Amino acid sequence: MSTTEIVIIGGGVMGTSIAWQLAQKGAKVTLLERDQLAAQASGATAGGVRQLGRDARELPLAIASIARWQTLEDELEADVEFRRGGQLLVTEDPALIPELEQRVADEQARGLSIRLVQGDDFHAIAKGFAPGIEAGITTDNDGQASGKRTTRAFGAAAERAGATIKTGVTVTGLVQSDGRVTGVETAEGTIAADLVILAAGAWSRRLAETIGVRLPLSTMGLQMMATGPAEPMLAQTVGALNRHLSLKQTPDGRFVIGGGWPGDFNLDTATSSSRMSSIRGSIEHASAVYPVLGALPLDRVWVGIEALCYDEVPIIGPVAGLDGLIIATGFSGHGFALSPIIGQLVSELIVDGAPSISLDAFALSRFDGLRENLEFPDHQAG
Ligand SMILES: Cc1cc2nc3c(=O)[nH]c(=O)nc-3n(C[C@H](O)[C@H](O)[C@H](O)COP(=O)(O)OP(=O)(O)OC[C@H]3O[C@@H](n4cnc5c(N)ncnc54)[C@H](O)[C@@H]3O)c2cc1C
Repeated sequence: MSTTEIVIIGGGVMGTSIAWQLAQKGAKVTLLERDQLAAQASGATAGGVRQLGRDARELPLAIASIARWQTLEDELEADVEFRRGGQLLVTEDPALIPELEQRVADEQARGLSIRLVQGDDFHAIAKGFAPGIEAGITTDNDGQASGKRTTRAFGAAAERAGATIKTGVTVTGLVQSDGRVTGVETAEGTIAADLVILAAGAWSRRLAETIGVRLPLSTMGLQMMATGPAEPMLAQTVGALNRHLSLKQTPDGRFVIGGGWPGDFNLDTATSSSRMSSIRGSIEHASAVYPVLGALPLDRVWVGIEALCYDEVPIIGPVAGLDGLIIATGFSGHGFALSPIIGQLVSELIVDGAPSISLDAFALSRFDGLRENLEFPDHQAG
């Protein structure tokens, strides 16, 4: 049996961000990843970095995280393709402009820097949209980054700070004794730990179940597509009212298209496959908003497997009555943007005794009395 102080399960953007910031604080950390870093949701993500449209509980984290993103590449000493191009939520229907105005007022009241752009102001910042699309709401600090690059950069920074990262190691269960998690079982043997951090994305629920902890998580497969390269023309990450669309152009000129289209997945084999109906629907919605897409080659289609929490807000923190375990999972399709602050707050919780922004709203205990009675199926498509 080997011993380490803290074991993190999962080499996605959460596990690696936590590992980095814990190691920076001097903690002895070992991260265990079954595959390679960014093998699952964090490698499949659309990479939108947004504050817009957040649940009220997540907003303080999103605002703090977006502030971290502005300097993250310097901190990580890496190019993670962060572009502060802003978010742009457009409408094709002038009748919906009052709805956009209301959203601006609501989001401003919640502390966001956001504005409505129409007519010439819209055309000055937005190029390539379908005729008739002349209004949207936009934020300046939001942007986009590469999920793979960010996760690998967190991992590399964690190693530079002294963390150990082991890929190709599958955790088969948690080890519990006398009301305390004391380590993890792996295919290579037991690893004892003072503290285990469960950041295994869609597989977190199964791992928690090995010690009888029920997490209110199901799973969703989110389908994405990328076109071949085109001239740079779109700076923003785009959504559209009443459409299933997220659209961005990456630095290599490709358009990445998503918007919550479902794909299929198998948790046992950690594999996924795309759906024709989602490809069709996605092309239809995306090219109605951004016509140039219809003329570009479709280069790649993929599906990311993501943990979906019952209230679509993550679970972060300890489990009441059980020492030695911290959970950071259930990011429900919008965790990537939060990853810098999640690593910071979890490391503060562990090393300093309290996070600088309260994590109380993310406690598992919010589901007490509920999670025991609900079923959370493995194969719920997006
Ligand atoms: C298609 C798609 C688009 C998205 N778009 C956005 C977006 O635009 N903006 C945004 O903010 N968020 C977005 N998200 C959400 C965001 O990507 C996720 O919330 C985030 O990546 C979750 O990170 P994670 O580390 O929790 O999970 P994961 O990245 O899934 O990492 C979990 C890791 O645990 C490993 N693991 C699992 N079981 C074991 C085991 N038994 N032993 C060892 N290792 C194990 C897995 O291999 C995996 O690498 C999107 C997600 C998807 C799928």
